[in-house]
Amino acid sequence: RFAEINYGPWDRLANNAPFIEGVGPKPAGANFYPADMTKEEFEAAAAEDPTLRSLYTVVVRGDDGGLRAVPYHEAYAAPMQRAAEKLRAAAALAEEPGLKRYLELRAEALLTSDYQPSDLAWMDMKDNTLDVVIGPIETYEDQLFGYKAAAETFILVKDREWSERLARYAELLPMLQEGLPVPPEYKQETPGTDSDLNAYDAIYYAGDANAGSKTIAINLPNDEEVQLQKGTRRLQLKNSMRAKFDKILLPIADVLIAEDQREHITFDAFFGNTMFHEVAHGLGIKNTLDGRGTVREALREHASALEEGKADILGLYMVTKLKEAGELDADLMDHYVTFLAGIFRSVRFGASSAHGRANMIRFNFFKEMGAFERDAATGTYRVHFDKMTEAMNALSEKILRFQGDGDYEGVAAFVAKYAQVEPELQ
Ligand SMILES: [Zn+2]
Repeated sequence: RFAEINYGPWDRLANNAPFIEGVGPKPAGANFYPADMTKEEFEAAAAEDPTLRSLYTVVVRGDDGGLRAVPYHEAYAAPMQRAAEKLRAAAALAEEPGLKRYLELRAEALLTSDYQPSDLAWMDMKDNTLDVVIGPIETYEDQLFGYKAAAETFILVKDREWSERLARYAELLPMLQEGLPVPPEYKQETPGTDSDLNAYDAIYYAGDANAGSKTIAINLPNDEEVQLQKGTRRLQLKNSMRAKFDKILLPIADVLIAEDQREHITFDAFFGNTMFHEVAHGLGIKNTLDGRGTVREALREHASALEEGKADILGLYMVTKLKEAGELDADLMDHYVTFLAGIFRSVRFGASSAHGRANMIRFNFFKEMGAFERDAATGTYRVHFDKMTEAMNALSEKILRFQGDGDYEGVAAFVAKYAQVEPELQ
């Protein structure tokens, strides 16, 4: 059973340590390349035959001992044909025209290894309730070169209510942008509305997506030509997040949140904070005020962590503002206490992860502002509502200014000061 969960004899959550005696370490190139092939041999051969680098071929040794590319639809002909038949049967039953068309084109793609037409059709599909993400998609399994896509499937049911709410909030972004706690020049850009953000329940996982840990959010397609033409779609998998909430966040809260505040740890708030994080990426500013270029270029290696930190804190800001505007039926205290519990969950990723660092910064900044306090006797933390609101606004302002100023030195000093794990939290 453990081998089935891991799709092999290596423990994916323990850096692929083998758990069956005698199997040895996992090959970096998985099964995409011959086991005895060297990188040099591959590079030399790929200079002659670019199909060796294709996302959709396996590399094998030919009779002459040289390297040869075999397209997936030939190498795995039987399972690909079977999957294509099933997709065509599903297309025959599909009522929504966009879904029908996508399923037909995807079936074709499995048989030809030409995925672009179906990726385009997938982006055109807007009114479907059911969704199927299927085919060779992500390349993480190829640790040797990152060229080869591994097959996977998700079957998803769109959460229409949440999806409609998200579309509504995206419309309110200009109002939220105006309300940001910064001087006007830091909010002069029109906020980006990425309306193709939806919530789903995942009812089936297979292959790469199902190996070891479970994917909880998808951002596709990966084909850059399709991205340029149609953008991307972000899919948040609500029931998988629910499992994470039940199995990880609640047990952490039972240890670290003041007993009388634990009733404020709710899944609605947890999921809401996650979704608002996504929408909040559209707020703020993308170019520095001095006109030198993008925030990303100016802040270099700190750019991603700061942008994620921005989305986290502005997500909470959005909840607060939408509640004030009567657009959201939520208990702010639920969102605040659940947010704090979320910080405890994420600091576990450690100071070597950008996400872990962003959470340490938030923790220390909030602590300094008195947003919460620790009871030394029980080791639990208690949120102070008013100070939490102040801390949220202050941190929002700080991050938005760093971004607008493109202040690389300032961010570096800020990270050095706040991204420390204090002993009591260790
Ligand atoms: Zn993000």
